[in-house]
Amino acid sequence: MLKPLQMIVLTTANALQQHLAAARSKGDTIGFVPTMGALHQGHISLIAASKAGNAQTVCSIFVNPAQFNDPNDYKKYPITIDKDMALLQQQGTEVLFLPGVEEVYPNGFAGLEQYDLGFLETVLEGKFRPGHFQGVCQVMARLLKMVRPHDLYMGQKDYQQCMVVKKLLELIGMDTNFHVCPTVREADGLAMSSRNLRLDERARTTAVTIYQALEMTRASLRPGQLEGLTAKARQLLQANGFEVDYFEIADANTLELLHYWDGKQPVAALAAAFLGEVRLIDNMVLN
Ligand code: AMP
Repeated sequence: MLKPLQMIVLTTANALQQHLAAARSKGDTIGFVPTMGALHQGHISLIAASKAGNAQTVCSIFVNPAQFNDPNDYKKYPITIDKDMALLQQQGTEVLFLPGVEEVYPNGFAGLEQYDLGFLETVLEGKFRPGHFQGVCQVMARLLKMVRPHDLYMGQKDYQQCMVVKKLLELIGMDTNFHVCPTVREADGLAMSSRNLRLDERARTTAVTIYQALEMTRASLRPGQLEGLTAKARQLLQANGFEVDYFEIADANTLELLHYWDGKQPVAALAAAFLGEVRLIDNMVLN
């Protein structure tokens, strides 16, 4: 049996850029999958998509301090690096980029760039997690400039983040092909997430209510007023012990919040809610 290729693990931007320059000079295309680790099948689906389209897949694992508006969430973010490396190796990932904080933020966190994200930063995740998307842009701009991928793969699970990164690619003038990959779910419908590791058994059973609320909304969607639908979804979550940040229906292309649906406009439902200390998000395109 052929021995699978050994994955290359690099920790500095220099080493990464050298490796990728050599790959490019051979004509290899580069696919990039940025993650914060604690990998699951959602992440692996992105690796598989990248491998299907590129000669070299770079996965980064970096828990980005700049994107956590809640210091406790950062402190408690799950880290499972040995398991992650085994999964990536098994998947045939060519390169794992594993930088330290000083490598990504050599000048620390003062005087960071400010990205003009406009409306996206004022609504939903932007509204409830102040500074979060600026932090996402900080790390993504830095990683993208290091990797300079032909193709970038991210998950629809983080719907608004995908819109932010699409905008960032324009702002920093990169012509990377951007692929939004479908949300991978557990058998009961719960969207896979690294934060699910922080749910105890009881909370894990309850967590699926987010998916059920989205599914209920999709099944009941009719042209007309939308408030009844979103109120019912919020009630379902609250009745199951969630503290709801938001449950909204929005234009699927702009994220403008909608109170009325004309029956044609593409719409998505987006939700964020706490179960105990753990904040879960999910979304569904409804039509
Ligand atoms: P994270 O490690 O949570 O920052 O996620 C890294 C990438 O994986 C992001 O592009 C996420 O949108 C994506 N991702 C996370 N969960 C899922 C999932 N359940 N299905 C598909 N992609 C996902």
